[in-house]
Amino acid sequence: MPGKVSILIPMPQGLTCVICNDTIGVYEPLVVVKNFNVSRTSLAMEPAAADGADAVFHESCAPTLRITRPAGQDGSSSHR
Ligand SMILES: [Zn+2]
Repeated sequence: MPGKVSILIPMPQGLTCVICNDTIGVYEPLVVVKNFNVSRTSLAMEPAAADGADAVFHESCAPTLRITRPAGQDGSSSHR
């Protein structure tokens, strides 16, 4: 029986999460911030998702980030 041979498969391109500084895997859900637009995707679905992005991070890291909204849009305006 021949021994196990391990082959190194080159990763397409490593994306780094801006929150935890860890590598985002190809099949991991990720959040892309581009021009203040936040979208959830993954590199498996959209290999070019991070092109021109301002920030990318794990979807699981996203709740720790508070996305800044424009002032005056608080959701509910209790005006009487
Ligand atoms: Zn992360």
